[in-house]
Amino acid sequence: MKLFGTMEINNKGQLEIGGCNCLTLARNYGTPLYVVDEAEVRNQCKLYKSFFRSDSLRTEVIYASKAFLNIAMCKLVEEEGLSLDVVSGGELYTALKAKFPKNRIYFHGNNKSEAELVIAVKSGVGRIVLDNKSEFRLLQQVTKRLGKKANVLLRVNPGIVAHTHEYISTTRHSSKFGESIFAEDIYSFIKEIYESPDICFKGLHSHIGSQIFEEGSFLELASVMLDFIQAIRRKALVKTLELNLGGGFGVYYSDTDTPLDLPNFFERLLDEIYVKSKSLSLEPPKILIEPGRSIVANAGTTLYTVGGIKKTYDGKQFIFVDGSMADNIRPALYDSKHELSLANRMNDKCKEEFAVTGKCCESGDILSKGFKLPTPNIGDLVAVSSTGAYNYSMASNYNRLTKPAVIFAKEGEAKVVVKRETYEDLVKNDVHLVD
Ligand SMILES: *Cc1c(COP(=O)(O)O)cnc(C)c1O
Repeated sequence: MKLFGTMEINNKGQLEIGGCNCLTLARNYGTPLYVVDEAEVRNQCKLYKSFFRSDSLRTEVIYASKAFLNIAMCKLVEEEGLSLDVVSGGELYTALKAKFPKNRIYFHGNNKSEAELVIAVKSGVGRIVLDNKSEFRLLQQVTKRLGKKANVLLRVNPGIVAHTHEYISTTRHSSKFGESIFAEDIYSFIKEIYESPDICFKGLHSHIGSQIFEEGSFLELASVMLDFIQAIRRKALVKTLELNLGGGFGVYYSDTDTPLDLPNFFERLLDEIYVKSKSLSLEPPKILIEPGRSIVANAGTTLYTVGGIKKTYDGKQFIFVDGSMADNIRPALYDSKHELSLANRMNDKCKEEFAVTGKCCESGDILSKGFKLPTPNIGDLVAVSSTGAYNYSMASNYNRLTKPAVIFAKEGEAKVVVKRETYEDLVKNDVHLVD
């Protein structure tokens, strides 16, 4: 198992994160428990801030909050100087509750409701990222009624197929996101946005997918978008000031994953954008990116307690833990892999493969299909690595399981940033029809 950030093995063979012993964390806060290595999240933010920049281009880094969001995370992102991408009224509400600077909020989503647009316009978010024509019409009505202006980007689909899981690939021609750059009326549509009195067209957005490892897909995206920007200038006489290239930078989950070398990659990307802009005689647009997963994934570890061990009739060995697909849907949804360890016995020899499953009434309730571990005992602490992204944010209450607590661990101190749900929380919206 790969150790990330501040993860360490102490002299008793126990896993420590952010200077906190995982056994102590489990004892004090219970399991399942999401442990976030706060210094590692901050480091990732700093890495993006310091390497996604160039002397010749203006740049901005936006954290895609759907990967992992709560009020503490908003505060952290604000402190680290990143902007924030939200995709729903709920994410926007969280950001506003955390008093995140409104002009640094980007509001995405392919089906924003009128009520959501009203909140976004009233609160004056930095950019609304329009997905389509009907949303544009709705926003026209909303801005007119409120007598307020809105700055927008248009999300477009350049038809690039990035190699990743189908569910997280977003710019095939058949994708539901954005308007195609090949549509006949795309230029007249952009002109219409530009000329709309209360809506200020700032630029374009495109996001090709998630968990992508090839530089090529991003370089192709940048190049295609610059050609498109030039065509917009020629055909619609509209200047594109900002180009948001989305997120999707792949991370290490298991030894088949080879993340990009971001400092080198960004240098090349920004360089190519500058050179191509010059060759097209374009004033280079401001370049924005929106990493989500790569800011938080490796910083998160989920701790579970082993409740049972079972060998099936055909010899498969199961470890039963006190969490489930309800707190980590990724293996069930994407067949994704996480590395595992026994946090109380990090130095013990890994002899056999064990499948790890949880409490849900589904054979698909898989946390790992098979991973080499020491022979487990009841009460051992299973640590599942790289659960910082798309885990808590995708968690459900299936089987009426309560969502775990979230801890930020740093320099030997742990703080609860999201409390564990209680049974009372589970019934708080249920209406008692009979006494
Ligand atoms: C999901 C998403 C991101 C972030 O993707 P990651 O793979 O988590 O980096 C960025 N932008 C948009 C529009 C998204 O939908």
